[in-house]
Amino acid sequence: MKPTKTASAAGLRRELERCVACGKCRALCPVFSVEGGEASVARGKLKILAAAEDGELDYNADLGRLLDDCLGCRLCTSGCPQGARTDELVYAARQRIRDRRSCNPLELFILRYLLPRRALLASLARFVGRWQNRLARLLGRSGNEELSEGQRVQRALVGLYRRLLPLAGLSPRLVPPTLSPRQFSSGRGEVQAFGDANAERWGFFVGCALETAYPRSARAVVELARRLGIGLIAPTTQACCGLPAWGSGDRRAASALINANAAAFADRDLDGVVTACASCASFLREHYSGVLGRTQTLQEFLRERLGRLELRRTPGLRVTWHQPCHLARHLAVELAEPMLARLADYVELEERDVCCGGAGSYFVKHPETAAAIGERKAKRIVDSGAEVVVTACPGCAMQLEASLARLNAPVRVELLGDFLARRLPPVSS
Ligand code: SF4
Ligand code: SF4
Repeated sequence: MKPTKTASAAGLRRELERCVACGKCRALCPVFSVEGGEASVARGKLKILAAAEDGELDYNADLGRLLDDCLGCRLCTSGCPQGARTDELVYAARQRIRDRRSCNPLELFILRYLLPRRALLASLARFVGRWQNRLARLLGRSGNEELSEGQRVQRALVGLYRRLLPLAGLSPRLVPPTLSPRQFSSGRGEVQAFGDANAERWGFFVGCALETAYPRSARAVVELARRLGIGLIAPTTQACCGLPAWGSGDRRAASALINANAAAFADRDLDGVVTACASCASFLREHYSGVLGRTQTLQEFLRERLGRLELRRTPGLRVTWHQPCHLARHLAVELAEPMLARLADYVELEERDVCCGGAGSYFVKHPETAAAIGERKAKRIVDSGAEVVVTACPGCAMQLEASLARLNAPVRVELLGDFLARRLPPVSS
């Protein structure tokens, strides 16, 4: 296991000094474009962090709230002449705050108790998903057949969320994701094994969001691998990758998850590991060693293999691509445009690699800013004329679905695996 990276005081100070206050990040930061204050942009955040490191400010809850207001999208770093790594500096500062202060009990419960227990997480999601489905049936599910099942449930519940969420002190602009009443994991045995594992044998890192909200996409990955003659092994003891814990500054919870996953995938004689979640892939590559440290995104996994799949084109279907931050700037994975253009009529999306505003739990902690960033993205998608927007991160998919629901735009959101698997010919019996 790679040790989870922690910045020393000297290292953090050195990194902070990279910023020469040129202000170029102001034109790039999605949060700054909505909120406009200097504290919301990289330059301001780095100045505040330098003051905290110099002892002029406390690493306290106020500073924590300020640092929470960052998507970790790395758009500022991509345009910074000094290469200032604002997202990593913000994470390091969140760790300092967490080392000094206990966090809120609900967050602690989620990070330290729920996320390591995949079966419990799946059961809870199933429970919520069933209730969402029942309520949607009662209220009259959206009849728009172009939308996915989850989107149709979500659209039916938007009005209810708007009325109920303020009663719980939450923003009426928050549109919760639809969880699935059926999960991917079986919970039986030590592993779920799919296909013929005698030829190539890959591990499948499922991830929390695919498990709870997009199990259909997890099954799509299984089907794509099966058609390629590749066996997949999904250890049932795998847990959350650790990114939410790491991002919130909880090193202890992140380390526990890293150890649990390393053990779950150890000694499985795997040719590699694949995941359909760009965020998981990014965290696994940056924080794990061994086979998990070489995890491939579905796009990378299919890059050399796609030609072996018999996929049917859908002429006349206008499709576009949202490039997740973790693919664009963390992993530098190419756009999926050529794949999509082979299978449908590809239309360009303006600002396709700009953050959608989801960013893990950001959309819950900063619902107004997240909604404004998401609606800008949704308008771009509507303007593109696409009927389907495809992406590679379930977190992005949730935010795109919520943003398109606020505009009541009839655009279907699909994860890449699902989009491809839907174009496989039926298996002849
Ligand atoms: S672009 Fe980079 S150097 Fe310039 S102000 Fe922003 S963080 Fe500082
Ligand atoms: S990582 Fe993204 S949200 Fe955070 S300061 Fe940089 S551009 Fe803004």
